Amino acid sequence: MSEPVFIVGGGPAGMALALALHRGGVASRIVDARPRGAAQSDARILALSHGSRLSLEMLGVWQDIPHQPITTIHVSHQGGLGRTLMRAAEENVPALGYVLAAGDLAAALDQAVTAAGIAYQDNTPAPEQAVALLTVHAEGRIEDSENIRTHDYGQHAVICMASAATPHRGTAWERFTPAGPVALLPLSCQGGDEYAIVLTCPAAASEEIAALDDSRFRALLQERFGPRVKLMGVGPRRVYPLGLRVRRQPVGDRAVWIGNAAQTLHPVAGQGFNLALRDIMELADTLTDANGAIDPGDPALLARYAARRRLDRAGTIGFTDGLVRLFSNAIPPLLHVRGAGLLALDLFPPARSFLARRMMFGARGW
Ligand SMILES: Cc1cc2nc3c(=O)[nH]c(=O)nc-3n(C[C@H](O)[C@H](O)[C@H](O)COP(=O)(O)OP(=O)(O)OC[C@H]3O[C@@H](n4cnc5c(N)ncnc54)[C@H](O)[C@@H]3O)c2cc1C
Repeated sequence: MSEPVFIVGGGPAGMALALALHRGGVASRIVDARPRGAAQSDARILALSHGSRLSLEMLGVWQDIPHQPITTIHVSHQGGLGRTLMRAAEENVPALGYVLAAGDLAAALDQAVTAAGIAYQDNTPAPEQAVALLTVHAEGRIEDSENIRTHDYGQHAVICMASAATPHRGTAWERFTPAGPVALLPLSCQGGDEYAIVLTCPAAASEEIAALDDSRFRALLQERFGPRVKLMGVGPRRVYPLGLRVRRQPVGDRAVWIGNAAQTLHPVAGQGFNLALRDIMELADTLTDANGAIDPGDPALLARYAARRRLDRAGTIGFTDGLVRLFSNAIPPLLHVRGAGLLALDLFPPARSFLARRMMFGARGW
């Protein structure tokens, strides 16, 4: 193999890295165990930050991805007072984030990988032994080992599309309930406005909830979300197990882990792929600093990458984990802390702006 970088996993993380390296003049080869194009059937709907949009523009794929801007985010919690609103206009950005289909993201990345002439071998599992100066693991999962941190929240996500009685006007809703958060992400489909739903449920009940008939599922969803948006029809459901799995050290001997292979997060704050993209852009910058004239597996270079990413990575993982733990129970003192927190955010614009910018750009947002 002549390419200095070997990427195991041709999902969105692996393909985005190959494109970022290509921009910097570093050649890579992707291998994926599945047939090419399989990632395009990913049913998830993602909320991506403004910072991610800028990265995808840099990779030349943004214009090919249908997307819905989020202009307002409404956060509330069940069983207590307090709510907060974040608005794009207050942050002087065109949108706080964008909603798009993971399948469309994969299709645009795949098209760009082909156009750039990047080698992609499908139906090929990773070889047992290293075949390049640097192996990047983008397999989308973390095997058990001593070097990982895990937490089982006992929650699964049930996702589906839903129509509402009123237009969404670009508003995303996040409601925390003792059974887990519920998110409504605005999306414009061919038939008009819809919401992509992420309903977090206790793990043991998730399959049963997903299998409810449409009218009972809609009623349960409405009950969990509350009356702020009247939901009308719901589409087919899919279940995703949730948990926290983090590789403490994302670099090793001539190896780097990116995307879900580096950290798998709860989707509550929609941070998984956003964090992955920030890692990817920094990794590509680090490896292309010397115009490809360096050894990409050089331990000093990999240590530099890990150091540059430490703060944002720890902050984003801690923020996501903290949100799930703080908001996923009904202990009365916590109800007041949560209500007070949301109220304080609402009354104190700098704190709200801090949170909005962190979600848009990561630790460097401020
Ligand atoms: C319900 C839900 C909602 C989410 N919402 C958001 C959101 O709003 N915003 C956000 O930023 N993130 C969100 N995420 C996270 C986001 O979906 C992930 O960060 C992203 O899909 C990870 O992409 P990846 O390329 O790392 O992994 P994957 O998409 O899993 O790709 C891994 C690839 O590696 C291949 N592979 C696996 N093993 C091997 C092997 N041994 N050899 C070769 N190839 C192999 C696979 O075939 C696959 O193509 C959400 C996640 C969930 C579960």
